Amino acid sequence: MINDKRKPTTTDSGSPVASDEHSLSVGPDGPLMLHDHYLIEQMANFNRERIPERQPHAKGSGAFGHFEVTEDVSGFTKAAVFQPGVKTDVVMRFSTVAGERGSPDTWRDPRGFAIKFYTREGNYDLVGNNTPVFFIRDPMKFQHFIRSQKRRADNNLRDNDMQWDFWTLSPESAHQVTWLMGDRGIPKSWRHMNGYSSHTYMWVNAQGEKFWVKYHFKTDQGVEFLHQQDADLLAGQDGDYHTRDLYEAIKRGEHPSWTLYMQIMPFADADDYRFNPFDLTKVWPHSDYPLIKVGKLTLDRNPTDNHAQIEQAAFEPNNLVPGIGISPDKMLIGRMFAYADAHRARLGVNYKQIPVNAPHSPVNSYSKDGAMRLNTVSDPVYAPNSKGGPVADGARYPTDSTWSASGDMVHAPYSLHREDDDFGQANALVNNVMDEAARDRLVENVTGHVLNGVEEPVLSRVFDYWRNIDSAIGDRIAESVMAKRAQR
Ligand code: NDP
Repeated sequence: MINDKRKPTTTDSGSPVASDEHSLSVGPDGPLMLHDHYLIEQMANFNRERIPERQPHAKGSGAFGHFEVTEDVSGFTKAAVFQPGVKTDVVMRFSTVAGERGSPDTWRDPRGFAIKFYTREGNYDLVGNNTPVFFIRDPMKFQHFIRSQKRRADNNLRDNDMQWDFWTLSPESAHQVTWLMGDRGIPKSWRHMNGYSSHTYMWVNAQGEKFWVKYHFKTDQGVEFLHQQDADLLAGQDGDYHTRDLYEAIKRGEHPSWTLYMQIMPFADADDYRFNPFDLTKVWPHSDYPLIKVGKLTLDRNPTDNHAQIEQAAFEPNNLVPGIGISPDKMLIGRMFAYADAHRARLGVNYKQIPVNAPHSPVNSYSKDGAMRLNTVSDPVYAPNSKGGPVADGARYPTDSTWSASGDMVHAPYSLHREDDDFGQANALVNNVMDEAARDRLVENVTGHVLNGVEEPVLSRVFDYWRNIDSAIGDRIAESVMAKRAQR
């Protein structure tokens, strides 16, 4: 029966269709007709619903909200988004790293913490994590690192032996692995974790002064975590536990928020700082560079179409705005290419025209044509031109987030600063930050992980790796693993 209050179903071209339920057939029991174009359109569309998932960070969820500057940091950056009192719309996506789109939210893994600020000077993206450091410091190793976290070629299974093989042969991973195996390796929810830029960026003020900066988004909900056993249980009962939590909290009107603090290093300090300030495996101890408050990020609106608004959201560290630049962090420089390239591969060259990715400020670019272009292009289509097309204004928007560099071309690690090593900050985490109960859980978590598939010769290297971080913890892990293996 026709219900006048409901809209008539149409094809994708807008023409009304006769039935949502019955294909066109020759008599009720006869064969189906190829000229049932609506049936064909539905089947064809369904076959094309999935797009390539992200590689990595495939499983995630997100929401919309705003960022409001509550303090005055204009002395450090001229970026419009960080001027006193400015409120900017944002979209955010949280994610795990290694799992596929259907994988459980509660696996032990770092979490992505990606923010797109729709500023009046273009989109500014901060593609962070819930951890202040990372496993590696050179993008040459990134692909290999992620492969070691994903699946083997032969049985298509994840393999802890492969993970520890890579980690123990990459000692720069020690700080992040310690963090991962600690309590924060499984947050209670997206809402109960901090977000960090991890990378060092540059801020430039209106006078052209430069600063090296790190972003810290501290959860206003408090940091909370899941014990391994509870996370394992949840992985079976509700693989979408964190996705559900975020969506339902916002729906209830409990809008999660994070307070943004910055660590700010004067430009000239970098050369002589005790750690290489651009090494992504290191933090800047708070006592060296205390946190400076900036403002508050609040999420208050759920997506209505997860695919269009979150799955197709494309975050990229190269989305920068005047007053914000990058640093010599090699991982960050690698990401400047890799993210946009991933979006082009996954979403197509015109992905920035998908509404969630489109800036809220005017676009006057010379990009043209390409698959799935939505915005029309007008003449002139080249620069320079004498026909009134856009013209770059280097006086108003200079390339000022720069540093000087020189040297022969080499394949080499970073040069070391006074206190640089692979294990010192991991040791500080174990001994100065974790209490006895947290250290007990660390030993338990590593033991459980290692017992699940790690064999010689990797096993002995795991014990040495932990002894390098802290000899007592290494001995405890070795004893615990060997004792449990003996019981098998
Ligand atoms: P602080 O004592 O000033 O800071 C320690 C920080 O560790 C805390 O502020 C908290 O970060 C974080 N933290 C607390 N519990 C855990 C945990 N279970 N797992 C991971 N992080 C935790 O010392 P320092 O700044 O000198 O840093 C000492 C060590 O703390 C570092 O080597 C690093 O491993 C870790 N850390 C340092 C951070 C930094 O930016 N300096 C940030 C996070 C960790 P938060 O306040 O962000 O919640």
